[in-house]
Amino acid sequence: MIARVSLEIALRKEFDYLIPAELVGQVDVGSRVQVPFGPRKSLGVVTAVAEESGQTRLKPILKVIGAQTLVTPKVLQLARWIGEYYCCAPEVALKSVLPEAVRKEDASWRERLFVRVLPLIGEFPKLPKRQQDVWNLLEERREILLSELVELAATTAATVRKLEDRGLVSITNEISERDPYANETILASQPLVVNPSQAVALEKIKAAAVGTFLLHGVTGSGKTEVYLQAIAHALEQGKGAIVLVPEIALTPQTVERFKARFSSGKLQTLVAVLHSHLSAGERHDEWHKIRQGRARIVIGARSAIFAPVEPLGLIIVDEEHEQTYKQEEAPRYHARDVAVMRGQMENAVVVLGSATPSMESYHNCKAGKFTLLELPERVDDQKMPHVRVVDMRQACRDGKGPPTFSPQLKEAITQRLERKEQTILFLNRRGYSTSLLCPKCGYVAECPNCSVTLTYHRTEQKLACHICGHNARVPNVCPNEKCKNPAIRYAGTGTQKVEEILGKLFPHARVKRMDADVMKRKEDYRHVLGEFRAGRIDILIGTQMIAKGLHFPNVTLVGIIYADMALHQPDFRAGERTFQLLTQVAGRAGRGDVEGEVFVQAFTPFHPAIQFARRHDFVGFYEQEMEFREQLKYPPTGRIAMLTLKGRNEEKVKFSAEHLKRELEKVLKEAVVAEPSQSASLFGMLEDVAEKESAEKLAKARAVFRDLVISGPAPAPLLRAENFYRYQLMLRTRAMSRLSRSLAGIVAQLVLPDDVTLAVDIDPVNLS
Ligand code: ADP
Ligand code: ZN
Repeated sequence: MIARVSLEIALRKEFDYLIPAELVGQVDVGSRVQVPFGPRKSLGVVTAVAEESGQTRLKPILKVIGAQTLVTPKVLQLARWIGEYYCCAPEVALKSVLPEAVRKEDASWRERLFVRVLPLIGEFPKLPKRQQDVWNLLEERREILLSELVELAATTAATVRKLEDRGLVSITNEISERDPYANETILASQPLVVNPSQAVALEKIKAAAVGTFLLHGVTGSGKTEVYLQAIAHALEQGKGAIVLVPEIALTPQTVERFKARFSSGKLQTLVAVLHSHLSAGERHDEWHKIRQGRARIVIGARSAIFAPVEPLGLIIVDEEHEQTYKQEEAPRYHARDVAVMRGQMENAVVVLGSATPSMESYHNCKAGKFTLLELPERVDDQKMPHVRVVDMRQACRDGKGPPTFSPQLKEAITQRLERKEQTILFLNRRGYSTSLLCPKCGYVAECPNCSVTLTYHRTEQKLACHICGHNARVPNVCPNEKCKNPAIRYAGTGTQKVEEILGKLFPHARVKRMDADVMKRKEDYRHVLGEFRAGRIDILIGTQMIAKGLHFPNVTLVGIIYADMALHQPDFRAGERTFQLLTQVAGRAGRGDVEGEVFVQAFTPFHPAIQFARRHDFVGFYEQEMEFREQLKYPPTGRIAMLTLKGRNEEKVKFSAEHLKRELEKVLKEAVVAEPSQSASLFGMLEDVAEKESAEKLAKARAVFRDLVISGPAPAPLLRAENFYRYQLMLRTRAMSRLSRSLAGIVAQLVLPDDVTLAVDIDPVNLS
């Protein structure tokens, strides 16, 4: 028997190996194996098994990793699709479907040595003092971890082994499972009686055997309850479920809600959790609980979409519009789109949920690809918060520029403090000031490695780059030798400055800041939220870290310090992001009995993204935004492939980008005009057309590349990052699968200078 193996070292090729007699029965499609490769050893995944190979003199597989095949055939199929669609090498795609902790050579359960007292046979021997001391301890405990015993008795493992030799104790290897939630007590919860719109949504989901649903429900409309009951339905059918949530929303509270529902009763199952805060060992164990079928529900961030749940009945993608579902390194997949594909492949139902759906998903509903389900009201008829937009142009003071707090927001905070209610303030920029500049000579402190200004961090007294992390001392005078003006100024406001101003305005208020600078560990996050929940904090100020999913009944005021900030990004999704962010942040207000109020401070108060968010009008926003997307063939009308060239020498990068554009034009134009047989031999992209020689298909293929728009090359919005210059080419078409296949061919043949690299991003989310 032979096995075909895709090796981890990127070669875009698979190799055949012999399955040695001692491993027969252990190697199957999806097994992870160690094999010899040249003078080295490499890890890989078996993609096929066969009786014999066309190759001779095969080397044998050295070792199988894990007791079971690690990549199930269905996940293998999914990995193949990812490689093709996202235009990356198959081994890169394959690697991403297994967590590092499961992939590595020595991955295994934690085995621990237990010492147990054995029944005494015959007479108790006379022991040397040290052994006797150990025995005395053991006799009363009967059973103890070897490591514990060694410590307790201040002895060595060798001494304990002597007792084993005498037949007094046994030392055995036992698996002890690592459970990241071992210390939490979880109270069982029962299904709630669903309200009419929840019932309707659930009935449709339950009735479907396959298909994708978009659950559009305002914050607090009870989407999670719909997820829980849909999962229960899947379990009743004997199937499992995957729940994806953005990493930041994977709080203990979220996980608890799922564990609580399935911790007892006839649908009882383990709920496995996969996210980046777990230790490698915990990840390994959680993953294998799924593989063994003991955990039938998986809740996790992006990569949990590859969890080996079998059979799979349901995939939920909560907050489906979240950017974090996109992986920003190869394979550059979007977990929401992978979820839809996996659902199709495995006949599972997919439910995408959001209060602010992505343009893509809503468009798919309109196009009839997804089914739209709506939860238009909050549970218990709570009202949506009242949103007031404050025109900051009118708040400007003579000659002093705009204040951080408008009089309206100041007044609203004062009221909340008096009424002992809580306030959340949002500003998506950490640090103190966004730039340091000299008003006399125009000097601006910039990062030496990136094309951005340095942010002033007052508490740490440093200037920092938020792209590469570069740190610099804060100068006392303008660093320009000819200027040396001592009156250098800080411009722009970050969360640190807001915190400081709050301290001055409301000296008695208890204020806490929450951003990446203060929240270094996950305990910090938990701690602050606990304090806030307990009412020991009056005002919480934070970045996007506080925008999502938090649920505090006593928060009746939300202030958005600078709503236009996200609008000024050089990205066609800037309006959509602003709309989403404002809606999400506003959703934090008024989740209790008192109606909530939201103040949105803006310099462009009439921008549609702000106005539609003010009216909680998603559909209105969608419709006007679609006009602009259609005009420019931006998603969801068309799809984008972004090609980014990167290198230390700007001229070379630019030249390479121009060269790539010429290649693209040549090849893709030829694809349109050439006869099918010819283009098939060139790039293999019209193979199916060539085979069937169907005139209709050919016409379609021509149309595919005729709708293609190639823009650029142009410097990336962030031209320089970490000392690398970046140029981009943007390709737009409706038929992305076809284009990405062609791109794979072009990229494989492309010759670039050694120090210039190309990254292909299909359906990019971050354009900078
Ligand atoms: P969403 O996920 O849409 O933001 P949640 O599922 O968190 O909303 O629901 C908000 C609150 O309403 C939760 O405390 C939840 O327990 C409660 N809830 C949801 N559905 C019902 C229901 N049918 N009856 C009573 N309470 C409900
Ligand atoms: Zn930098």
